[in-house]
Amino acid sequence: MLPVIALVGRPNVGKSTLFNRLTHSRDALVADYPGLTRDRKYGQASYEQRQFIVVDTGGISGDEDGIDAAMAEQSLLAIDEAHVVLFLVDARAGLTPADVGIANHLRKQNKTAYLVVNKIDGIDGDSESADFYSLGFSHLMQIAAAHGRGVSQLLDSVLDPIKDAFPEMSVSAEPQDEEEDAEAKLARLQSLPIKLAIVGKPNVGKSTLTNRILGEERVVVYDMPGTTRDSIFIPMERDEREYILIDTAGVRKRKKVSDTVEKFSIVKTLQAIEESNVVLLVIDARQGITDQDLSLLGFVLNSGRSLVIAVNKWDGLDSDVKDDIKRELDRRLGFIDFARLHFISALHGTGVGHLFESVQEAYASATKRINTAMLTQIMEMAQDDHQPPLVSGRRVKMKYAHAGGYNPPVIVIHGNQLTALPESYKRYLMNYYRKALEVMGTPIKIEFREGA
Ligand code: GDP
Ligand code: GDP
Repeated sequence: MLPVIALVGRPNVGKSTLFNRLTHSRDALVADYPGLTRDRKYGQASYEQRQFIVVDTGGISGDEDGIDAAMAEQSLLAIDEAHVVLFLVDARAGLTPADVGIANHLRKQNKTAYLVVNKIDGIDGDSESADFYSLGFSHLMQIAAAHGRGVSQLLDSVLDPIKDAFPEMSVSAEPQDEEEDAEAKLARLQSLPIKLAIVGKPNVGKSTLTNRILGEERVVVYDMPGTTRDSIFIPMERDEREYILIDTAGVRKRKKVSDTVEKFSIVKTLQAIEESNVVLLVIDARQGITDQDLSLLGFVLNSGRSLVIAVNKWDGLDSDVKDDIKRELDRRLGFIDFARLHFISALHGTGVGHLFESVQEAYASATKRINTAMLTQIMEMAQDDHQPPLVSGRRVKMKYAHAGGYNPPVIVIHGNQLTALPESYKRYLMNYYRKALEVMGTPIKIEFREGA
């Protein structure tokens, strides 16, 4: 599990400025896709080989009379799900009653909270911060989010104490032997069941699908223990493969079918994506593609996980309605060239079998062994077919390629002036590799290294 850090504070203190600073630093795993909206409020961030999830809770109005009432449901849930809260205040505006209101609220939550005094650029931070000590927080940090000042000290203070509690947070530093490392990861992946996360916005049919899948199987269902904020892990077998379903909809937790649906939680969904090998993104055919679908999709693409898309509720639709929906999907999802799209009815079970064929294919693609000889040969073929462009009169030269990881497959290319390669050429290489390696259902990540 990754740690979740929530940004809390009244409007205008600099939450989104800090949020952007924290999340944009993350290398995009897959090249930026046009047509994707980035969800402003939830983001994955990384800092010095450590990964975490940031949530901009946004919704606190700071109205001291009705602080509880004024907090939007998702904001409250986000604070509840957070492991650490950063409470932002504005050094220039000074201490306001709204800050006091929020502080009182946070105190009741019993969370690790840091008081972050923002906008200390160009002013005397210590004297402007003095007032804020009265809020009674033991940790007080000064930053200028807009300029990045104090942000690394802040992250060190926040992340260091929790690093043992969240071993998954650490991404290993540049390994000595990447290929050997990748090989070890591959062996590990191949010995484990496929972790399949079923994600989607509320009411798309996740629970119906999960029940359908479980109902069709001879499953040994035992619920792994977890808290309310966790997804449930359900081991199962299908076509002689072992799986672990990551159930974000909380199917197994509901006592009766009629129990109210568990609250949708974006943080839980993000955690489930991180935990999984393959993501099954469920979309409701009757609602078309919404912004929320696109932002979930953005998270999946960022995570590098394999992806299969299920367009659910395909039953009982007229054929011209179906044609319209297909056109719409094509228009809005056409940019994802690697994921299979399935039209299913979770309610009737139609198409569910084929879904698993694609899940298997996606996992097989993500864990297909690749090696130096083969990657270098493909690279040379791509280079012969289409030379990289000249950069200030010199030709960019790719020398060799090797494997750098799996799930997603990582291809590391060494050569000269590679940083100058234009996006269009990178995309060309990506597509070339995809065709040559015959992978489907997984993104491919290409890293470029200068020199031999
Ligand atoms: P939010 O409403 O809490 O999300 O606040 P924003 O991030 O939108 O910031 C509100 C305003 O404060 C914007 O005009 C920012 O440019 C400005 N701001 C944010 N951080 C800083 C900072 O470190 N220094 C200064 N001087 N201004 C900042
Ligand atoms: P979740 O919130 O994503 O878990 O969605 P549910 O599984 O609870 O389904 C939401 C609603 O959509 C319920 O009323 C389901 O009966 C309905 N539903 C789910 N799958 C299908 C389907 O394939 N076809 C139709 N027509 N309705 C469905």
